[in-house]
Order: sequence, then C-alpha cells, then structure tokens
Amino acid sequence: MTTAAKNPAPGPPPGAAKNRIGLTQADYKGSESTLCPGCGHDAITNSIVTAAFEMGIEPHRLAKLSGIGCSSKTPAYFMSRSFAFNAVHGRMPSIATGVHVANRELQLLGISGDGDTASIGIGQFIHLIRRNVPVAYLVENNGVYGLTKGQFSATADVGTRAKTGRVNEIMPIDLCALAIELGCGFVARSFSGDPKQLRPILKAALSHRGTAVIDILSPCVTFNNHLGSTKSYDNVKEHDAPLHDVFYIPAHEPIMVDYAPGETREVRLFDGSRVTLKKLDHDYDPSDGMRAMVTLRQAREEGKFVTGVLYANPAKPAFDREVGMVEQPLSSLTLEQVRPGRGALEEIMTGLRTGAGAPVSAGGG
Ligand code: SF4
Repeated sequence: MTTAAKNPAPGPPPGAAKNRIGLTQADYKGSESTLCPGCGHDAITNSIVTAAFEMGIEPHRLAKLSGIGCSSKTPAYFMSRSFAFNAVHGRMPSIATGVHVANRELQLLGISGDGDTASIGIGQFIHLIRRNVPVAYLVENNGVYGLTKGQFSATADVGTRAKTGRVNEIMPIDLCALAIELGCGFVARSFSGDPKQLRPILKAALSHRGTAVIDILSPCVTFNNHLGSTKSYDNVKEHDAPLHDVFYIPAHEPIMVDYAPGETREVRLFDGSRVTLKKLDHDYDPSDGMRAMVTLRQAREEGKFVTGVLYANPAKPAFDREVGMVEQPLSSLTLEQVRPGRGALEEIMTGLRTGAGAPVSAGGG
C-alpha cells in the first residue's frame, strides 16, 4: 500500500473555504486525470472530492482500493494524501478484506468497473457482500471494456449497439439486484452526470458500517456514447427515473427533520448518520428488499434506469463483529501480543479439545 505524500496536490487558492477539520477542497484532489476528456469517470471523481471535503474525512484515515480498467485508474485523481492499492484484475475485494483485518480503523473506498466486478471479479464481489466487509464499493459502469477498445461487458443491455455495429444479445447482470439478493445492507444506483444525487449517496455509503454498493452509470465517451448504445449520455438522461431526492445529514451536525408521512423516509445508518429521502413521484421504502427487486425488474422491463437508494439495512452486522475481531487494529499489536508463547497456545488447544473454545484477546491469540 502506498501514499502519495511525496507528491501533494497543488495548494489551495487564497481564501478558499475550509471544512470542519481545516482542509480545503483542493486538499482532496489528486493528480491530473489521463482519461478521455468527457469520460463519466472524471465526473464521479469530482463528486468523490466534494463529498469527502464536505464530510471532513481525514485523508490519512482512508484507503483507496481498485482493480484494473479505466475506472480503476481514477483513485490516482483524488485524495492524494490517502493510502492506495491498485490490485490485479477483479481482486480488489480480497485486498479490501485484508486491509480491514489489518487495520479496522481505516475507512475503505473501493473503485471498480463493470468488467472488473461483473466478469473476472464476480466471485470476489459476491463474497465481499456475503461477509459484509465495511467498504464503499463503487462500480463505474459503462457496459464496455474501455481500456481494451470497447468490447461488451457483462452489464451491457440486450439490444445495445457497439461502436463496431455489433448488437448485444446476451442478458446483462444487474449488480444492484444481485447485491440485494445477497443481503447487502446498502445498495444504490446513480448517474455520473447527476452530482446532486450522487454526492449524498456517496456520503451515505461512506458512513455505512458494512459493504455499500453503488452502481454508477458512467458513459464511455470513446466507445459507448453513440446512437444505439443504452449507456450513452443521451440515452441515460432520457431514461433516468429518479426514485426520490436524496439528502445526507452528517452525524456531527444534528438536524431535526420534519418528516411528513408518505413524502419522506429517514434511514438511520449504523454509525448514527442518516439519509433522508424525499419522494417525488411515488412512495418508496428502501428498507423493503422485495420491493427493491420488483422495482428493478419493472424498470428493466420498461427500459428505464432507476436511480436512488434502492435498499438499506443498517442493522446488518459488519464483518469485524461477525468474526469477533479484537478492538485494537491488528497492525498495531506488539510482537509479544502476536507471539503469545507456548503457554497461551496450549491454553487455546486445551480449549478447542474440551469444546470450551479458545480465549480471544489481543495478547491471547
Ligand atoms: Fe473513459 Fe471510455 Fe476513455 Fe476509458 S475509453 S477513459 S472509459 S471514455
């Protein structure tokens, strides 16, 4: 894992606004993007920068993790003072799990793409959700392999046309439906060109104590922005069907919400922060997993993209609680604690033999 502390982002302009920890928005930027001008991924990067600045995230307490693809290059373009690990293709979830086990105090932000997640990394994605490892997992979804010249990915819609003229006839994988089916505690879908909706969803995902999946439609301007593509800017804008307006209220700024039945629904996240949803067109309850699946299915049959927080279950126990990890980060344990000695090991073995279980503590193994 590396940090870019030796190459800090350029300093803030004089008089720039500061957040609650005294940093400016410029402090959350990274190096210059090398993606194609107009790529949806750059818009997502901008939303991450703004969301992290507004939340007052301490950059050195966050780890950016990614796999392979255009999307997975983007962690270089934001939060240059954070830890970072660019993993091999589709293996980011394993790295995220390892980082969490080593230091549970780090906040994890995973950036992946539709190829990295829905094809080569689908097994890892499934087990990350199953274990509920606390990571905000973003899929920058454009339906093509942009890095290798625009082949269809596993999320390409039936009937979408490639730049070469070929039409996709294979059913796509709906990552939101899959995540809900697997019991993921936070599932949302958004659009890279809608920062007003995406930013609060990002904040909610970063506050969720468990795996939070956001599938972000992010048009590839080079290989998937033409007539006939269902993930082009024009087509997504035309068929975007927002579920609700989303607001994020940070836990350190308690605000009383005047909740009107039938119009808004508040979701309290595990760490005490909340998402308040304002319904525009119809009632939507993000705690109802069955309804979320039906909503996704109906939208697909109508050829629409449903955006917003689709499902939230903040009560689901996170990975560290499920496996009974010690409070102290493993990376900070002393040599004496990680090498408990013969006596402690014999005590553990005796516990296992007698069925009494092994004592678990920072120093006891
Ligand atoms: Fe973005 Fe597509 Fe260019 Fe890759 S090829 S950087 S996804 S526009």
